[in-house]
Parts: sequence; C-alpha cells; structure tokens
Amino acid sequence: MNIAVISPDFKFSEAGIKKIQAAIPSFLIAHEETFQNDEVTAVIVDDSPNRQLNRFPNLKVIFSVSAGVDNLLEESSLLDIPIIKVVSQDMLSLMREYVTYQVIRLHRGFKQLEQLQKNSEWQWFPPSNTPSDCTVTILGLGQLGLVSAKALHHLGFNVIGWSKSEKQIDGICCEHELNGLNKTISKTDILVCLLPLTSETKGILNHSLFDKMPKGSSVINVSRGGCLNQTDLLNALNKGQLSFAVLDVFTTEPLPIDSELWQHAQISITPHIAAYPHPDSFIDDLILSIKNNEVGEQARRIVNKKNGY
Ligand code: NDP
Repeated sequence: MNIAVISPDFKFSEAGIKKIQAAIPSFLIAHEETFQNDEVTAVIVDDSPNRQLNRFPNLKVIFSVSAGVDNLLEESSLLDIPIIKVVSQDMLSLMREYVTYQVIRLHRGFKQLEQLQKNSEWQWFPPSNTPSDCTVTILGLGQLGLVSAKALHHLGFNVIGWSKSEKQIDGICCEHELNGLNKTISKTDILVCLLPLTSETKGILNHSLFDKMPKGSSVINVSRGGCLNQTDLLNALNKGQLSFAVLDVFTTEPLPIDSELWQHAQISITPHIAAYPHPDSFIDDLILSIKNNEVGEQARRIVNKKNGY
C-alpha cells in the first residue's frame, strides 16, 4: 500500500518516517509528489484546502489527523471511502491546556487586568468567587471535550458536559440533546464549544442560546467558526448580555484584517492554535490504525458520515 501525505504543512520528521517504515515495512509512506496518482491507495490528510482527493482513482482509505472532518465530508466523491481519525495524545494535552488557561483567565478577571495595565491603572480587586462557584458548560464530550471537562473538574470548577448521546462521567454533570442543553444553559458562567461542525451544530452559538445564559457570562469557541453566529455574538457583547468571548476558530481563516472582531475590547483572538501538535505525535496511533485497517478490524475512530463527525 502506498500512503501519500497530502498537506503542505504536515511533515513527519525523518526519524518519524523511519519509525513508521520499521513498524509497517510493507507500506510506503511519503509526501504526495513521490507517487503517481494511480499508485496511491491511502492518504493522510490534515485540514489544508485543495486536497483534490478525487485525483486518486485507487484510494481505499483516508486517515485524518484533523479532528474536524467537516471540510473532508464536503467532498462528495469520497462518499464510499472510509475516513479514520488518527489521535495524538499531544493534541489532547494542548487542547486541555488551552481550555483550562482561558477558563481561568476569564474566571479570575485576568482579561480585565490586562486592560487595566494598558491604562497604567492599579485597581485592586480580590477574586470574588472560587472555582466551585463557577459553572463551565462544555458542548461536546468527545476526545477533546472530555479531557478539558476532566481537567476543569480537577481544578474545582462545576462542570456540565453536553453531547448527542447520553453519558455518565464521574464528577461531570452530563446532559444530552436539546432538552438537556436548555436545562443547563441558564446556569452557565463560561460556555466552551468543542462540537464538530455539522448540519445540527452550524450556528448553534447564537442569540437564542446567549439570551438564556446569565447576564455577563462568557463564551469560548475552539471548535469551528461555523458553529458561531458572529453577528449574534457581537450583539450579545455590545448589549452586555455576554461579557467576553475567546475565539480560536473563524469561518474565514486567516481572519480578514478588516474584521471588526480584531479590535473588539471584549474579544480575545488566537489564530487556530488551540491544539496543533507536532506531526510525529500522531505516529503511534497511525501505525495502529493502519494495521487494524489492514486486517479489517473496525477502526476505533471511524467517521460516521450520517452524523457528520
Ligand atoms: P469528537 O468527534 O471526539 O466528539 C464530538 C462530540 O460532540 C461528541 O461528544 C458528540 O456527542 C458531540 N456532538 C456532536 N454533535 C452533537 C449534537 N448535535 N448535539 C450534541 N452533541 C453533539 O470530536 P473531537 O473532540 O475530536 O473534536 C471536536 C472538534 O474540535 C472538532 O470537530 C474540531 O472542529 C475542533 N478542533 C479544534 C482544534 C483547534 O485547534 N481549535 C483542534 C482539533 C479539533 P456523542 O459523544 O454523543 O457522539
């Protein structure tokens, strides 16, 4: 099997390539230029645009190192080809770190303190409440939502998790479906979105959700820009319904220079960096996924195309 890596940015190190070849010697893994299109039977893709996967007539399987597969699923020519998500423990650690950092930053008022420092203003205010007084709701209890929820729980936050199917997780109050979300949203001080972008989650962060949140609550979007209605967010911030938003993902990336999000005092922007680990961190799971796929074993993280994630 010839496995082509399709991405300008995603490159295994030389040591990484050697490790893969040693573990699966009958597979040749290389960057796409190495192969003729008809020689490629599997691909490794990230979230880069213009993959044009329909140029590979003998493609049998796609390994995605991107946890979000919404763009990939838009390529209808791939309908019959299984997509297997490859996991990196480093990606989980990075997302856990990003989410806990941003939650603590909002909870402790560090965002306001950064602003005060810009104005050379010494305004003494002690922490007004403890983590257990702060309810963080995490939308999406997949691999990334779960590690973030557990970390926040260990820090003492009151954590609610929301998913499509019913779950039970120690220390986390688990809700599912729209009824569950409606039940809990009015208690939410900080809302973290870690949902995949699907037809059900598109624009889910909108005015009707914001209006149900307590006045002065905050939103962190680390999933996909399409999950957020940007106009509704700006309205909610401007009228004081929400106090802050942290955005790592946007419908258009890079975020255009003239976007009003850049200069908004109540918005923090990061350039889609929440969890982008070194490519080599995917290798162990990639080897396992390739071996399992070869013997026809059901992949642990095969994309359910009906659900869209
Ligand atoms: P998973 O596929 O592991 O989990 C998705 C979670 O969302 C599941 O808990 C699922 O519920 C839940 N869900 C899906 N649809 C709905 C719905 N309609 N209602 C309620 N819950 C729903 O995803 P990951 O944790 O791997 O990744 C989440 C997203 O994070 C990715 O899709 C990607 O867009 C984004 N991401 C962002 C990065 C960044 O750097 N900013 C990096 C990596 C990923 P159930 O458990 O019941 O199936």
